[in-house]
Amino acid sequence: MSPESLRKEAPACSLCGEPAVIHQRQTSRYLCGTHLTADVGHRVSETIASQQQVVPGDCVAVALSGGKDSTALLLILHRLFGSRKDIRLVAVTVDEGIGGYREATVRSAQDLVRRLGVEHITVSFGELFGDSLDTILNGRESQACSICGILRKKALVVGAERAGATKLATGHNLDDEAQSVLMNVLRGDLMRLVRNSGMDSGGRFIPRVKPLMYIQEKEIATCLMVQGEWEDLPECPYAVHALRREVRSILSELEYRHPGTMLRLMQSRKTVETAFMGKTGGEPVGTCRECGDPCSGDICQLCQLRHSIMR
Ligand code: SF4
Ligand code: ZN
Repeated sequence: MSPESLRKEAPACSLCGEPAVIHQRQTSRYLCGTHLTADVGHRVSETIASQQQVVPGDCVAVALSGGKDSTALLLILHRLFGSRKDIRLVAVTVDEGIGGYREATVRSAQDLVRRLGVEHITVSFGELFGDSLDTILNGRESQACSICGILRKKALVVGAERAGATKLATGHNLDDEAQSVLMNVLRGDLMRLVRNSGMDSGGRFIPRVKPLMYIQEKEIATCLMVQGEWEDLPECPYAVHALRREVRSILSELEYRHPGTMLRLMQSRKTVETAFMGKTGGEPVGTCRECGDPCSGDICQLCQLRHSIMR
């Protein structure tokens, strides 16, 4: 089939009539590459503005794994704030030490920051915790994501602190956020939905922001493709063990059959947050008695992990 006939067969963009690259089922629109990119940029700006995720004077540490979401996040934030004198962007990459996977994404991250001229800080598990994730796991591969998640969180904070950041931006998209809501429900950990982990840090930790939280994964992937920024990278070998993988496939199926499912899950979280506001939701941030980091109990997850598995 010739490119001309393919062009003719693609549905037309609802806004300009050019060949569409995506069907936004939640808005019943077809969009071409230009209008999809503009729409995503606009919605990210709205999220940033409505939640005051980035304000003048901020130094934003952008968590850059080199994968598609963080690549899209840095590209968008650079487009929005790259020329601003009153906002600084610093990319922070965590190298967990995952053989056959992380090398390629770290290279992709380095290539991107070089092209954009963005400052870049890399923090490795080896430097912070004495070993790579591959070594730390040592037979606990089935728990890889829980262990990695705790260590990554700390490594990102260390990177953001080194950057002198006032905000830590991560590339979590709508799919990730909706999956987290469902996973918390499935684990019976409803309170985690309303835990005070966002902007209101009371100066105790660097507030985390998620500018892509209302953008679907497929919108991000399509944006990268039309901008020539798509790179086929390997998947983390430990992802097969994650509950998230199963939840992801169930939710994708539900979203396809019932468009808007993910957004409705996010609305449920908002409803629960609002209902618990001023009650037990915004759990008081305590201090870990061992390391002094902010935590919700007596001892933080990292110190618990140190006791249970690390030297
Ligand atoms: Fe870490 Fe799991 Fe993500 Fe791999 S998939 S980088 S182990 S959290
Ligand atoms: Zn601790």
